[in-house]
Amino acid sequence: MVTMFSLKTDIGIDLGTASVLVYIKNKGVVLQEPSVVAIDTNTNKILAVGEEARRMLGRTPGNIVAIRPLRDGVISDFSITQRMLKYFIRTTCGRKIFRPRVMVGVPSGVTEVEKRAVEEAVLQAGASKPFIIEEPVAAAIGADMDITQPSGNMVVDIGGGTTDIAVLSLGGIVVNSSIKFAGDKFDEAIIRHMRKAHNLLIGDRTAEDLKINIGTAYPREEEVFMDIRGRDLVSGLPKTISIGSEEMREALAETIITIIDGVRAILEKTPPELAADISDKGIFMTGGGALLYGLDKLMEEKTGVPVHVAENAISCVAYGTGKALENLDLLQNITGNEKSNKYT
Ligand code: ADP
Ligand code: MG
Repeated sequence: MVTMFSLKTDIGIDLGTASVLVYIKNKGVVLQEPSVVAIDTNTNKILAVGEEARRMLGRTPGNIVAIRPLRDGVISDFSITQRMLKYFIRTTCGRKIFRPRVMVGVPSGVTEVEKRAVEEAVLQAGASKPFIIEEPVAAAIGADMDITQPSGNMVVDIGGGTTDIAVLSLGGIVVNSSIKFAGDKFDEAIIRHMRKAHNLLIGDRTAEDLKINIGTAYPREEEVFMDIRGRDLVSGLPKTISIGSEEMREALAETIITIIDGVRAILEKTPPELAADISDKGIFMTGGGALLYGLDKLMEEKTGVPVHVAENAISCVAYGTGKALENLDLLQNITGNEKSNKYT
């Protein structure tokens, strides 16, 4: 007779607007894929999920659409989000893991109805019990901040679709906001700038490449350049030009200031004792957008509070969701956890 080992485990999922990460206890982050689904509109069948689907964005024939179902931090399409989530859970767990406990981190703007849809998807994928955690709480835990004490902590998570700003204390959120200015808006600003300043039409991917490689929030000691290709709007033909980081700084300035203003607004709403704690410890930034060159320095200058980019900024939320499962009794605002919901 075969003895069954207990393969029960905890899984944390970061259901982000730009990417989904899956964290398995003792294994770390086992999956990181773009939150994109490609669908054949004739048959309503899913053709690809993740990186494969992302490659199709902007390159599909009429009957195929590539969708980012969480683009603006709200679940614009329930059933596609559910199918994507199930797909990712099944690819990472296969049949090896027996009914795991799953904690999903969702953007803080999602509604109760949207949370139920996520829970349902997790259950259908074979979990024993679904839990939902709001992203800023998971981000703070993942950044190794001790949020369980009566002390103020501030986390700014800059993702693709949303920037989540939150002050946490005693395992819960004290003040927070979610603004729809983040990585995607940086890309859009770059596209607009290229069109206006150079009459050049570039795609989303090129804009993102520019942002990641030479994007700048604070003047660099040495300017860096990158060659990019687009379509000349006058001749209609492909054209290559060289772009410098100072130009990127101008293109991104307005979007960056909107995010920093959002941080300042939350600081102003923070009770004074907690604000004093934050001045001591500094603000922690997480998410891919936090990696924009010089954003920490500029935010520090504009808020007067030290700013740190969390280590592993991109995987903080995933790691935090996993870690949250181990500390359920210390946390509030977690859907699915009877104990914590008493307080909310
Ligand atoms: P989400 O949590 O919304 O899924 P992520 O935290 O994964 O988002 O961040 C995705 C965003 O971060 C994208 O807009 C991506 O272009 C941006 N990003 C990733 N790396 C960098 C970088 N080095 N510099 C600037 N932006 C980056
Ligand atoms: Mg995120």
